[in-house]
Amino acid sequence: MWNGLLAQFPSIPQPCLLCDQPSSERLCQGCRFQLPYLTRYRHRCVLCALPLSTDSAYCGHCLREPPPFERCRLACSYEFPLDHLIHAFKYERRLPAGRALSELLIEHLQAERAETDEGDWPQCLIPVPMHWSRRLKRGFNQTELLAKDLGRALALPVHHRLCRRHQRTRAQQGLTRTARIHNLRHAFELRPSASRKLAGKRVALVDDVVTTTSTVRALSRLLADAGVASVEVWALARTPESQ
Ligand SMILES: [Zn+2]
Ligand SMILES: [Zn+2]
Repeated sequence: MWNGLLAQFPSIPQPCLLCDQPSSERLCQGCRFQLPYLTRYRHRCVLCALPLSTDSAYCGHCLREPPPFERCRLACSYEFPLDHLIHAFKYERRLPAGRALSELLIEHLQAERAETDEGDWPQCLIPVPMHWSRRLKRGFNQTELLAKDLGRALALPVHHRLCRRHQRTRAQQGLTRTARIHNLRHAFELRPSASRKLAGKRVALVDDVVTTTSTVRALSRLLADAGVASVEVWALARTPESQ
């Protein structure tokens, strides 16, 4: 009800989610300007969007092991103050923070779409799944909410039930790259109807933060086996250095 009322009076100032100053939008102009947009990095890996310090097309990891996805379209680098917004959304269930984050990514994707052939643009979205027990504990899957916002804004179907995480993997944080890959190898599973629904389709995987790319690599491989035409990764942020 409050959302409906506020929508009728969009000019009523609300506190900016980051600085608490009155603002007509969820994030004020000043805070939006200060966000760590990835486009501000001169050099980024063309495959995984990792910011690079030298003028090269690929990061070391993608050179050594080319990923099974075509590219990553990401709005920001996972740095202050964006990390605070993502934390508020994921761990404190502050849904307005989630909305502000969706809006940032939608804006970025709309700009990218304007420069992309329609024949190369994804046809459907799959949120990175969360194990049911973790979802139960958190109360929601943040990538699912994000994918729904993106799907609505960009008129793309969201398949949030085709893929599931059937193993309760250990948290990825703090693990080495080899341990992460091992941790994820058998973590995901596609439903039997997935091949029929996804064969020949261009798919975008939706994640919140891309860290080592291990998760999206594992999922992309699974989707490739199901016969999709291509996979790209859409996410809010990229950690600046691969761990
Ligand atoms: Zn602000
Ligand atoms: Zn890369």
